Amino acid sequence: MLLTGTEGLKALTTAYENGHALPGFVAYNLETVQAIVAAAEATPGSAVLLQAGSSPFKHAGREPLMRLALDAAAHSSAPLGVHLDHSRDLEEITACLKAGYTSVMVDGSHLPFAENIALTREAVRRARDHGAWVEAELGALAGDEDISTNANASTTAMTDPSQAAEFVAETNVDALAVAVGNVHGFTTTPVHLDLARLASIYSAVPIPLVLHGASGLPEQQLLGALSRGVAKVNVNAELRRAYLQAVNTQLPTALPGSDAVSIWSAGRDAVTEAATRIITQLTPRS
Ligand SMILES: [Zn+2]
Repeated sequence: MLLTGTEGLKALTTAYENGHALPGFVAYNLETVQAIVAAAEATPGSAVLLQAGSSPFKHAGREPLMRLALDAAAHSSAPLGVHLDHSRDLEEITACLKAGYTSVMVDGSHLPFAENIALTREAVRRARDHGAWVEAELGALAGDEDISTNANASTTAMTDPSQAAEFVAETNVDALAVAVGNVHGFTTTPVHLDLARLASIYSAVPIPLVLHGASGLPEQQLLGALSRGVAKVNVNAELRRAYLQAVNTQLPTALPGSDAVSIWSAGRDAVTEAATRIITQLTPRS
């Protein structure tokens, strides 16, 4: 089932209160949408965010990917939110809200503080008209959303706790993505989260925090983040790697007969398996 904005926000708040996190999985095409939905169905009770766009719109086209994700969520037995990830474009945000997205992320992290506030405020105003919830970002995240670049977090600005408090009060946003040493994509040198900074942001800010770039993060660090207010975790590179490794394994068998279907299926199954494992990791163990 496709969650409404209110239901999605409720799932986020419940995760926040219980020290677990909603997974935000990035989907690029039919197979990754299907894999994320299958993983959600394999883990009953866990709400999952299907992140369709904005960067994947460059690959699949906005309208086809948007329709695909919304339709897959609506026809699933699992509770799924459809989320717009990293959008800088109010027109794009409005289009997704009109189509029925559960939530949107407005990313003004590249802008000066006051302009980030202004952009985020406008996105929140538009989202409220559609009953959707909004994630914003403060502090710059190293790396690239679509490819692993071995970026270094120390070269970018981390989120300042007192500025974060001011930002949240000024914008009335529902969730805040933070930069605390996390990086988009895999890196060769291990990522080390600044958990002390995260703890300060957690005490300064009264809303759920979001951790981007969780692929390859050691479990102890991930759990450390969950106990410091992180209630949504974005995963992308880990799913892409699972897809590509499966394709690599299957290719020698598939190539002689031009069996593309077996490649797409292998990729899809690998993403389902990876996403299922991640959902289990983010859900509290009793
Ligand atoms: Zn991100």
